[in-house]
Formats: sequence, C-alpha cells, structure tokens
Amino acid sequence: MDLKSIVLPGVDEKRPLVIAGPCSAETEEQVMTTANALAAVGVKIFRAGIWKPRTRPGGFEGVGAPGLKWLKRVKEETGMYVATEVATRDHVFEALKAGVDVLWIGARTAVNPFAMQDVADALSGVDIPVLIKNPVNPDLELWIGAIQRVYGAGIRRIAVIHRGFSSYDKKLYRNSPLWHIPIELRRRIPNLPIICDPSHIGGKRELIAPLSQQAMDLNFDGLIIESHCSPDEAWSDAAQQITPDVLDYVLSLLVIRDATQ
Ligand code: PEP
Ligand code: MN
Repeated sequence: MDLKSIVLPGVDEKRPLVIAGPCSAETEEQVMTTANALAAVGVKIFRAGIWKPRTRPGGFEGVGAPGLKWLKRVKEETGMYVATEVATRDHVFEALKAGVDVLWIGARTAVNPFAMQDVADALSGVDIPVLIKNPVNPDLELWIGAIQRVYGAGIRRIAVIHRGFSSYDKKLYRNSPLWHIPIELRRRIPNLPIICDPSHIGGKRELIAPLSQQAMDLNFDGLIIESHCSPDEAWSDAAQQITPDVLDYVLSLLVIRDATQ
C-alpha cells in the first residue's frame, strides 16, 4: 500500500499530503470562512471535528450531525475533500450518508478494542480512506491492533496519524512525540503512509513548524494541521490552531528532501 492509494485524485503527490481545518466545526460561518481561506492557499483536504471527544464533561462536545451539512457545503463550494472523526458506528453511518470523503479514528478510540471493533464493523464493505491515530498511550501493539481491525473490515486505503502520546508530566509537548514508535511501526508495516499531527503533539502553535520539519526529515508522508479563521476564539484547542495564512507560511518554509537520493 503506497501513498498513491490514499491520496485522492487531484491531490498533488509531489508535496506532502496536507489536511487542514479547525479542531471543531463550530458554526456554518466559521467553517465556510476557514474552508474558503484554506482552499485559496491550495489545501485539498479539509478537516473538522463534528463529534468531539472532550476530556471532561460539560464543555463543547461538537455540533453533531447538523454540522455535516456544512461539510457538504465545503465540498460543493471549494472542491476540497472533507474529513471528520468517527468514534461510533452511528458516526460512521451519518458521515457516510453525508458524503464525507475521509474518516479518521481518534486517539481515544484507537485505545479501546471494543470501540475500534464497533467502528470497523460499521466500515465493513465500504471503500473509503481511513486514517488511524495512535492510541493515547505509547502502545505500538494496540496501534497495530486498531489497524488490523480496520483492515479486517476490508478497508484498504489506510494511513496512520502520529499525534504523540499522553504523559502525566507535560513538559515542552502536550503529547510526547516518541518518534521511535511511528518509525518502528513503519519498519513493521512498510509502505503504510504516516501523517504527522504537529498540532496535537505540540499543543502550541509555535511548535507546529519545527515538528512539521522533523516529520519531513523522517520522511513522513503528510501533515494534518489544525487551522481556524480566528484561532484565539476557537471553542476547542485554541492554543494550537493557526490561521490559513500562517499555515501557508509554515508549509512554504518546509524543506523537503528527496529520500531516494
Ligand atoms: C482532533 O484531531 O481534534 C482530536 C480530537 O485529536 P486526538 O484524537 O489526536 O486527540
Ligand atoms: Mn483538536
């Protein structure tokens, strides 16, 4: 399985695959403003969380299914592909019904074999790219198990997202990168595309550029970066989001070395 099997038609295969968009879809206006600005700087795949797995109850837990209509509008008006997180079988059914192009499975779902199996069962017989984040804890076998469950459901367009690993002592990073884990995954499953999520690793917008460069230096295949039209006002993960213009600048600074030379 190489990157071409996950990259959708029309996506520039010479550059790293870039997926960008807000942590959460908040309002139709926020989604459309952000999406239009991202499309204008050449982003081809738009991300937005519709169902948000929040650490503690009582906060914003996503707009839910009504937000899927906004993603449909993004597709129609910008031509971008749209991606969202699914954590239950109902999320899968709703997202598929709404025409979502790419699904991702979050770190809090990848950690739970029952939840993973439930999502995998709902994907059975469907042909759609599925991106599997690493589990929150640094357990490579659990990550591989999550991949196997999705593969077992018949999904062949699979990629993984390295979003770092939770630890009690938060130092520089919100989630420690522990780069050796995705590198070991690549050794165990060669050709599995690996996408880096510098937003959730760093937890701070100023760490996005250096983490993205590290991922490129390690020959990762793509980046998923949180981008919001007004980052400081974001309803979730405000400190780690950047505007579409800053995203464009960060991407322009990346040095991509040809790994085949
Ligand atoms: C997200 O991508 O917004 C998200 C909730 O990520 P993670 O599952 O990596 O915490
Ligand atoms: Mn987020």
